[in-house]
Order: sequence, then structure tokens, then C-alpha cells
Amino acid sequence: MDLALPGDDHPARAAFGRWLEAHPDPTPRQLGAAGYVAPHWPRPWGLGADPVTQLVIDDELRRAGVRRPFNQIGIGWAGPTLIHAGTEAQKERYLPPLLAGEEVWCQLFSEPDAGSDLAGLSTRAVRDGDEWVVRGQKVWTSFAHMAALGILLARTDPAAPKHRGISYFICPMDAPGVRIRPIVDMTGDHAFNEVFLDDVRLPAANLVGEVGGGWALAKVTLGNERVSLSGEGALWGQGPTAADLVDLVRRAGGVRDPLVRQHLARVWSEGEILRLIRLRTVSAVVAGREPGAEASVRKALADDHGQRVMAVAQEVAGAHGQLAGAGPAQGLPGAGGPAAVAGPWSSETWAKGYLFSRALTIGGGTAEVQRNIIAERVLGLPHDVDVDAGRSWADAHRAAGAPPAP
Ligand SMILES: Cc1cc2nc3c(=O)[nH]c(=O)nc-3n(C[C@H](O)[C@H](O)[C@H](O)COP(=O)(O)OP(=O)(O)OC[C@H]3O[C@@H](n4cnc5c(N)ncnc54)[C@H](O)[C@@H]3O)c2cc1C
Repeated sequence: MDLALPGDDHPARAAFGRWLEAHPDPTPRQLGAAGYVAPHWPRPWGLGADPVTQLVIDDELRRAGVRRPFNQIGIGWAGPTLIHAGTEAQKERYLPPLLAGEEVWCQLFSEPDAGSDLAGLSTRAVRDGDEWVVRGQKVWTSFAHMAALGILLARTDPAAPKHRGISYFICPMDAPGVRIRPIVDMTGDHAFNEVFLDDVRLPAANLVGEVGGGWALAKVTLGNERVSLSGEGALWGQGPTAADLVDLVRRAGGVRDPLVRQHLARVWSEGEILRLIRLRTVSAVVAGREPGAEASVRKALADDHGQRVMAVAQEVAGAHGQLAGAGPAQGLPGAGGPAAVAGPWSSETWAKGYLFSRALTIGGGTAEVQRNIIAERVLGLPHDVDVDAGRSWADAHRAAGAPPAP
């Protein structure tokens, strides 16, 4: 496996250089229109770029100091679902402002009684002439308070088996009847919300795909979510890495505590393994193979790893770790004081990261749900729940006359 990025002779580098000359201070709209926001999307929205070209473009953007617009849910998973199943009119209307970050998106999936068992959702959408009337409640909706639009799952046929009675809609967040209540999480930030939908009227044109076809589309969305959450940083691809923590300790002259040294070596090794799994995923796609198994395994490993990186950062911080806003540099000031050893991440980022890391094994599919997926789709083990009959696999196994599983 060749791990080095192609050099200056890669055609995407020259093409980007020419484009940057013509657009020395690119706006998000120009970046989106040129295909540089999501290069792997098909043309005209992206460049149809293979993974290596995508990495080369990421590298060029980094070197030029050009940042992609913020729209994690829009670019990461609403957009790919619209490309998969949206009408041409929906793509024309929604994708350009989505790519430019002019319309931020949120994801109206989870409900108070439907998280891991998402297909058990009870928000209803009833057809009324040219409109759908939606009533129900969503929860943990990240960015709902700043979003223009949401991807929404609602039950359109309560008589159908639960996976077949769900449809997929686009919901304007300023529509009459949409009420958003903030949830402040333990980091002190307001990132997610409760969303109440009281007889919200959506035009029929806001249905994505077929009536009753929402579950298949939800799987497309969730598949993209799991890949998007598995970047390099320890917090769902964002923020510091284990290597950043080790660099910080090295700058401070190292640590003597043998246990902390072992914990540092462990998270650094895990970080390297995760980086290689990510590169293997890229290589597999280039070679035309399916990356699915590696992507699921990586999400399960990366979530636990992120929590360990932040826990070791707390260990390094020592007693300072009990203070809000104190990071590992406070525990190891070295000769020049904490500022001299801190590195690229602020103490507040580390302190918040420690608190946020609890969410890693919950959002985007819990640790247990990830392991169920790996058991079933990677290892070929039976389903844990016979979903249509609403009973557990162990019950079904016993009903078939087999002895209980060990
Ligand atoms: C930071 C963050 C952001 C989020 N953003 C969004 C968002 O924007 N939009 C959105 O729709 N949702 C969002 N969520 C919600 C997230 O998807 C759900 O929290 C998640 O699906 C789990 O659902 P739940 O909280 O209802 O837990 P439950 O499903 O009630 O699970 C409770 C516990 O039971 C376990 N469990 C459940 N079923 C099984 C099983 N079959 N086998 C073994 N164990 C099981 C779970 O692993 C968990 O430990 C977000 C969550 C977080 C943490």
C-alpha cells in the first residue's frame, strides 16, 4: 500500500492552481460551483473525484488556507441522499445553497421513543391535497436552531410493517408549526435541540423518493453519517489527535509516571492503527473494492479511542483537570510555562473535548448498535432482533426448537 500523496505532477493540483489564480479569494458559492466542496460527488455538483484526487484537493485547500463552508449534516449526509434519490428539481433547488453553506441543514430523525430503534418512530405525516401535514416530536436535533432545512422521517402508513410505513421529507425549519427548544449539553454548549412539529404543512414536492420508501433512504443517510464521523481527529474526526497529545507531552520534556507513559503509548498506537485503516479504506475504493466493513469497524474503534485520548489528556492534566478550561499543558508546564507546550489546541478545547467525548459512543449509532451491525453484516451472525415479529432473535431461535444460544 502506497501511503504517500501524489506530488506536484498530479493534474488536480495544476487545475486547482489555475482556478485559484482566477479566484484568489473564493466565496463559498464559487468553491461549491467549482466542485471543490464535495469533489467526490458526481458532476455537476462535485467533480466525480476518486479518493486519491479527493485527498489531493483536500491538501491543496489546506495549503492555500481555503476553508470549506460549515454545513456538516447538509454536505455530509443530506446532500448525498438527495443525489441518490432527489428529483432533478430538488437537486437544482437545494444543492447549490447547501454546498455554499448558505442553507444549513439538520437531521430530524431521533425521537424520545425512537433512537437506536429508529424505525419505531411515531411522528405522523398525513396527506391533505397537495400537502403533507406533519405532527410529532424530534429530539437531539443538532443545529436545528441555525438550520434553514431539515431531513425528516415521518410515518405515512401506520398499518404497514414498521420499516415500510416511513417516508422521507425536506422540512423548512421556519414553517409555521415548527417549534425549537434548546438543550444545553454538559460542555455548556447549545448544539442540539428538541423540535416540536405541530401540524406543519409540507408541499407534496418536499417528499424525497417514494411514499413508504423512507427507511431505505434513511440507511443511505446513516451510512454517509458513519463515514463522515470517522475523520482524523479524536472527536468524530474533529479536534486533537493522540499524536497531538504525545507532541504536547514531548514539548514539555516528557512524563515519568510509568502508567501515564503506557497510556500515552497505547493511544498513540491506536491512533496510528486507525489512520492506517482509513488509508486502507481509501486504497480499497481505488482498487474498486467495497469499503463497508472497514468503515463500520473504524467507527466502533474510533469512538472508544476518542474517549481514551481525552481521558489520558485528563490524566496528564492531573489535578488541573478538575478545573473548567484547563488542559494537559497545565499539568506539564515545562520550562516556558503552559503556553510554551500547548500546541495547536487551546486548553478549553481539551477540557471541552473530555466532556464531549462521552457523546462519541452514543451519536451516529451507539457502540452497541455498531457492534450489532458488525456482528450481522461483517461476521454474518444472525439478527439480534426479529424486527418484523417484534421479538428477540433468542426467542425466535427457541421457537424454532433450537436450544438457547450460549
Ligand atoms: C452529540 C449528538 C448529536 C446527535 N445529533 C442528532 C441529530 O442531529 N439528529 C438526530 O436525529 N439524532 C441525533 N442524535 C441522537 C442519536 O442518534 C441517538 O442518541 C442514538 O441513536 C441513540 O438513541 P437513544 O439516545 O434514544 O438511546 P436508546 O436507543 O434508547 O439506547 C439506550 C441504550 O440501549 C442500548 N441499545 C439499544 N438498542 C440496542 C440493541 N438492539 N442491542 C444492544 N443495545 C441496545 C444503546 O446502545 C444505549 O446504550 C445525536 C446524539 C448525540 C450524542
